[in-house]
Amino acid sequence: MNVVKGVAEMKALSRGLKREGKTIAFVPTMGALHEGHLTLMAEGKKRADVLVASVFVNPTQFGPGEDYKKYTRDTDGDLEKMSRTGVDIAFFPGPEEIYPPGFQTYVEVTELEKPLCGASRPGHFRGVATVVLKLFNIVRPDVALFGRKDYQQLQVIKRMVRDLDLDVEIVGMPIVREASGLAMSSRNAYLSEEQKTRAVALSKALGEIKRKFDGGERKASVLLESGKRILSDSSAGEIDYLEIRNGDTLEEVMLASPGDVAALAVKVGRARLIDNIEL
Ligand code: AMP
Repeated sequence: MNVVKGVAEMKALSRGLKREGKTIAFVPTMGALHEGHLTLMAEGKKRADVLVASVFVNPTQFGPGEDYKKYTRDTDGDLEKMSRTGVDIAFFPGPEEIYPPGFQTYVEVTELEKPLCGASRPGHFRGVATVVLKLFNIVRPDVALFGRKDYQQLQVIKRMVRDLDLDVEIVGMPIVREASGLAMSSRNAYLSEEQKTRAVALSKALGEIKRKFDGGERKASVLLESGKRILSDSSAGEIDYLEIRNGDTLEEVMLASPGDVAALAVKVGRARLIDNIEL
């Protein structure tokens, strides 16, 4: 595995690969890698000649008072996992390389970034879209893989790719969960054992919404009420949002239909956890 830190070096490598006619799969991450990240990489390995994965904790997608400084960093562990999963190029750029002095250009996906996580994390998706576009320009992937766990992020990126005519295929991969149902996340490391047990209510609430939907219930208010009851009965934590939205446009729906998504964010201890289920 080739470990690359510099943007210029990464660009030269991808330029060389393109010249040789090689295809590139790309998995961008913020590190503290877990099985969720690794399934994206394993799939990327199958889809192209060369697999590039990046670790970059992107400062522009964190708001003031969020966990940028405290975000788990585990370079040695990440390198070991990447190498084991068949990553060919591990790209670890530094913040000063991605955002040099004078940086002032951003991408905004104006509507999709507003609801759900965008409402409580203003500027978050602007930071995400900007860094993903930059990474795409540096790595020049043919295919890039993202998790459906960050459902809104996936929709934002798909929209950006369409709107800006980017030449990259976006693949959304299923959510990888612990045996308990808890969606894997780097932020689960913030949880005590007791909080981890309480956090299982997030996937339970979504599972109940889906069960009721599959049983024929269509009223979003009724579906959401059943989910909220599970969250409050288990004292999971403070609910940031629990909503049912159109799976593509993320517009709110009163009556749920197949293809919609039930999504939530709940603060459990100091971890703000997100999860979703597609109906
Ligand atoms: P992150 O490091 O949290 O920015 O995530 C990097 C990529 O891994 C994103 O595309 C996430 O959606 C994806 N990812 C994170 N957790 C999971 C999970 N539990 N299952 C599937 N994909 C995930």
